Amino acid sequence: MPRLAIATRNAHKVDEIWAILSPLLPHVHREDVASALDLGAPSPVEDGVTFEANALIKARALAASTGVPALADDSGIAVDVLGGSPGVFSAMWAGAHGDDAANLQLLLGQIADVPDEHRGAAFVCAAALVTPDGREFVEVGRMPGRVIREARGEGGFGYDPIFIADGQDVTNGELDAEAKNAISHRGMAFRAMAPHLVAVLG
Ligand code: IMP
Repeated sequence: MPRLAIATRNAHKVDEIWAILSPLLPHVHREDVASALDLGAPSPVEDGVTFEANALIKARALAASTGVPALADDSGIAVDVLGGSPGVFSAMWAGAHGDDAANLQLLLGQIADVPDEHRGAAFVCAAALVTPDGREFVEVGRMPGRVIREARGEGGFGYDPIFIADGQDVTNGELDAEAKNAISHRGMAFRAMAPHLVAVLG
């Protein structure tokens, strides 16, 4: 049995989360960690309306179905002039297909007339850790920045090519994975989770 289950069906995301956490968890090894997919765990319905609620839904379901501590995250982009949307609907903004390019184009169209000084936004990530005996921890990370007008860069995923983080002059899509993790919402949320993981896993 693994010592920690991660609530994702995407192997790339396990690697990304592991890249953030492994330097902070010297007593946990890559083979101690398994994804929901590896474990054949069912996917719960993510019907929360906040990132925190959805991260907890995923972590609770995975801890219950596997019997080991479970880590989950939920994330998205919150655009100021859209009142925080797409928010928890980021992955499905242009429809249930979850098409990154269509999501990004729809968002650009919706704020096409918004002047540069009002294009503030933030990527937000809630990470949740739930143990089978019912301990729960939630940490939230934010990466503030702005939405530009045209996609730039081939790296990252989702809305990365149209977002420039505060303090940067390139889009997230132009940053390499290590540089993005150092400043990202996901990096912040999972680094904040590390002490809880140490307490739970030893
Ligand atoms: P989830 O947390 O995997 O459900 O991701 C939600 C959606 O938010 C993704 O499909 C992306 O559209 C968007 N998103 C979350 N984090 C990022 C990021 O780091 N870069 C770009 N898009 C992101």
